[in-house]
Amino acid sequence: MSELAIGIDIGGTKTEAVAISLPSRSHAESFNILNRTRISTQAHLGFDALVKNIAAFIAQFSSAYPEVTAIGIGMPGSTDGEGRVQNSNTTCLNGQFFHQALQGALAQKLIFANDANCFAKAEAVLGAGSGHPMVFGIIMGTGVGGGLTFDGAFRNGPHSICGEWGHTTLWPEHPVPCYCGKYGCVEQFLSGPGVESHYRALSGQTAPLKNILQLAQMGDAFAVQCIDTFLDNYGRAVSNLINILDPDAIVLGGGVSNVDLLYTRGYSRILKYVFSSECHTPVVKNQLGDSAGVLGAALLCRDDCH
Ligand SMILES: [Zn+2]
Repeated sequence: MSELAIGIDIGGTKTEAVAISLPSRSHAESFNILNRTRISTQAHLGFDALVKNIAAFIAQFSSAYPEVTAIGIGMPGSTDGEGRVQNSNTTCLNGQFFHQALQGALAQKLIFANDANCFAKAEAVLGAGSGHPMVFGIIMGTGVGGGLTFDGAFRNGPHSICGEWGHTTLWPEHPVPCYCGKYGCVEQFLSGPGVESHYRALSGQTAPLKNILQLAQMGDAFAVQCIDTFLDNYGRAVSNLINILDPDAIVLGGGVSNVDLLYTRGYSRILKYVFSSECHTPVVKNQLGDSAGVLGAALLCRDDCH
């Protein structure tokens, strides 16, 4: 017996839709992608136009699946107590009743979740975390975020900030503020732009992370120092996570998760700082790649409907 589910991933530049079939409700399972498409989010046109654009896209995509009565939606940010969007990098959504507006334009029931939680859920159920009871999903890209899942269900928390590990403080004396207003957030040291800005401060040169890694391999002193600091900060920040949650597995996603050193020298740094003489926590690369967000959104629908 298979189930149909539709997921939508609303990003700052593109919005993606997927229809999948799932064989059953177990935690390690196969799935088939039936249809997948994307459009430009058109965030620059403002809130009203964005709602219209996304609603029309979802209506058209879902018209092929009339049996689906609920749709999962993943998006950046969360909502405040009254239902207004907050902390979204699609800034025209902040302060707006987006969920309400989109629901008003569509017949199906919509189930919303933060995109990092969708990532964690997809990897926990269908990807690299499958089979582990408690999984922490880390996203390291232009920003740093995360989500915590138990048996495939993520925790949201009373303030909808569970897993927001990127804005815990690593170095409070850091002279530059994070975009969130605090100083020395994990995101400032482990995001791609964070590492690049450290290299710029050391060398006076601008280079993308990929090039900094190559330069370090070739022995460039500034790049070596920059990457070593990056791995050390990674070890400190992930060991904090393990000390607090002791998850069964940690799955890395986002562009920075492609840095192979995170799984070798980076893992050694975790062991150096963790509060245990031994640590076996698997810290693994995602299996679903860019698809995790939209697949996690589709799983939201299934959980709520059955
Ligand atoms: Zn911050």
